[in-house]
Amino acid sequence: MIKLRDGVHFDLQENVLIADGNSSTPNSITFVSHAHMDHIPHKDSSKIITSKETSKFIEERTDIQVDQQENYKSINLIKSGHILGSRSALVKEHDQRILYTGDISTRDRAYLNGFNPPTADTLVIESTYGKPSYVFPQQDQINQNILNWIKKQKTTFLFCYSLGKSQKIQYLIQKNLDKEIITHNAIHQLNRVYEKIKNIQFNDKHISKVHKKPYKQEIKTGKKTERVYLFPSHLSTNKEIKELSKKQNANKAGFSGWAINKSYLYRKSLDKAFPYSDHCDFTELLEVIQEVDPNKIYTYHGFSNEFAKTLKRDYDYNAQPLKKHQKKITDY
Ligand SMILES: [Zn+2]
Repeated sequence: MIKLRDGVHFDLQENVLIADGNSSTPNSITFVSHAHMDHIPHKDSSKIITSKETSKFIEERTDIQVDQQENYKSINLIKSGHILGSRSALVKEHDQRILYTGDISTRDRAYLNGFNPPTADTLVIESTYGKPSYVFPQQDQINQNILNWIKKQKTTFLFCYSLGKSQKIQYLIQKNLDKEIITHNAIHQLNRVYEKIKNIQFNDKHISKVHKKPYKQEIKTGKKTERVYLFPSHLSTNKEIKELSKKQNANKAGFSGWAINKSYLYRKSLDKAFPYSDHCDFTELLEVIQEVDPNKIYTYHGFSNEFAKTLKRDYDYNAQPLKKHQKKITDY
C-alpha cells in the first residue's frame, strides 16, 4: 500500500518506509531523497537512509544529527541527477520492484550526471513539470544563452535556489567567463559545504566583504569590475535587493523551469529568465517511464492530476495521482 501523508508512505513487509516525510513510528524507516528544505525531516530520526552528501547538507542546514546509511535491507539508492547527493530509492519486496524517484533530472549539468532509471513494477514519480507545455530547450543551448546574456551585461543579479542551482550556475560562469562572483550569505555557506564534500572550488566572495567599501567610491577610483551577484531566488522581489540592483545598474535574471511561462518574469520582477531546471521536463518524464517500464504508476508533486490523466488517456498507462487522505482503494 502506498499513501501520501507527510511524505510518501510505503507499507513494506517488516517496516513502513517514509520517503521525504516528517513522521516516524517505532516501525518506520526514513528515506531522504535530497537536502531541499521541503524534503528533510524537522526532527532527529533514529536512522536515515540517504546519501553521505545529503546527510552533510542536513547537518549544515538544521540542528539534526544524522545517523546515515545508504543501503538498508531491500532498499537501494540510485543517483537521481537533481542536486549533489540526490537519490531515488529502489525497493525489492516479494519479487516486486518499487521505484520512488524523489526529484529527478536526466540531463547532465555542470558536475552532475543525469538520472539513469532502473526498471520497476511500480513507479512513484515526481510530476513537477507533468504538463505537455513544459518542454525545455537542449541544455547546451540554455547554457550558451545564459553565458551570452551575462557577457553582454556589466553587472548582473542572478536569482537561484541556494542549494543546487546556485552552484551549477556559478560553475558555468567561472568556467567560461572572467567575472567577479559575489554571493549572498546562504549561497556562500553552501558553497563551502560543496567544497568539503566534492572536489570543486568556488571562487566567490561574500557580499559583506565587497560592500564594506561603498560601490560609488570604487567607480570614482576606476576600480569598477564586472560583477555577477548571486542571491537566493526568493529575494528577487525583496525591496532592499531591488534598490541595490538599481544603484548598481544591474540586470536581473532567474533560472527555473517555470521560466517557460511568460508571467514568471513579471512575478519575480526579473529582466530575463532562463528555463534552467533541476527537474525533468514533460518529455523527459515520459522517457523515464518508458525506461522503468512499470505496470503501475503513481504521480506526485506539481501537475500530478494532469500528468496521471495524460498517461492514462494518451499513453495507456495504469496511472493515478497520489493524494492525501486516501484511505480505501475505492477512494482512488
Ligand atoms: Zn528538490
